[in-house]
Amino acid sequence: MAKEYEVVIIGGGPAGLSAGIYTSRARLRSLLIERGPVGGQIADAELVENYPGFPQGISGMELGQLIHQQATRYGLETLQAEATGLELQGEKRMVITTKGKFTAKAIIIASGSERSKLGIPGEEGLTGKGVSYCATCDAPFFKEKPVAVVGGGDAAITEALHLVKFAAKVKVIHRRNELRATKILQEKAMAEPKIEFLWDTKVEGIEGKDRVNRLNLSNVVTGEKSTLDVAGVFVAVGFKPNTDYLKGVLPVDDAGYIVTNERMETKIPGVFAAGDVRLNSAQQAITAAGDGATAAIYAEKFLSE
Ligand SMILES: Cc1cc2nc3c(=O)[nH]c(=O)nc-3n(C[C@H](O)[C@H](O)[C@H](O)COP(=O)(O)OP(=O)(O)OC[C@H]3O[C@@H](n4cnc5c(N)ncnc54)[C@H](O)[C@@H]3O)c2cc1C
Repeated sequence: MAKEYEVVIIGGGPAGLSAGIYTSRARLRSLLIERGPVGGQIADAELVENYPGFPQGISGMELGQLIHQQATRYGLETLQAEATGLELQGEKRMVITTKGKFTAKAIIIASGSERSKLGIPGEEGLTGKGVSYCATCDAPFFKEKPVAVVGGGDAAITEALHLVKFAAKVKVIHRRNELRATKILQEKAMAEPKIEFLWDTKVEGIEGKDRVNRLNLSNVVTGEKSTLDVAGVFVAVGFKPNTDYLKGVLPVDDAGYIVTNERMETKIPGVFAAGDVRLNSAQQAITAAGDGATAAIYAEKFLSE
């Protein structure tokens, strides 16, 4: 028989963990389901300098563990498993996981999103050691160093414009010969002396022993190979929300993001979404935590009504 909970939270990043603090303190029987280590994406951040309460900064992994400890202290249960589907008919909703089924009166979806990866040699091993997916987070580590940004859309150009405040030089590497970014961003980037463009170019590999030091490039038109010495590479080729397991059950937009209102309610009563998984999230730890708290507060209201 499926174990029963009042609230099941899917995802143990800042959004899910913060929701867990609130639902547990509201004395709601709560289960958090996380497929990996708790902390979510923030656990990959070497140093988080913009989360309130830590004037010297804090490692992302420690931050995740501290929020988890805080939630556990108030009774949040954690299960290491992957949510693979939902059944939303009837008053009791069911979360299906790799370790069994769980019923819930309310569900908070906080399964986050991930930066699309390049899928090239060196990328995985050097993530957090010069390979980054977040300039807002990591740019200050590259003061006066040469860096590259991969991509040609809004995200890539926004990252490049942020990086010029820190880096010595920013090379934008794009596989086409023109940018997809909005015109105003393009104009700003073109006028910025620290930014240079490498057109028609793709990155084939990232080299470095303990830290990134070189990119292997190839020209997609001529096939010519080259290398570029950099201390860091920021990959900005898009985001992918973790919502595959919701297909056919919960409406998502074309890109896979969940649409919510300001109470974090989805189109289905009793089902909430919080953090990077929802459309128009600011994709920061603090905003995800805020979403989680909001979702939990309105889940509690939903259950008491
Ligand atoms: C390298 C890096 C550095 C960053 N630095 C900063 C920073 O300095 N400051 C800042 O504010 N933000 C930073 N960010 C962004 C920040 O980490 C995210 O905005 C935040 O973690 C989003 O929180 P979330 O809880 O919504 O989602 P996530 O953190 O993505 O957490 C979602 C969790 O859900 C789990 N999950 C997904 N699918 C399932 C499933 N089917 N079943 C079970 N579990 C599932 C995932 O394993 C994950 O743990 C950084 C991100 C990265 C990658």
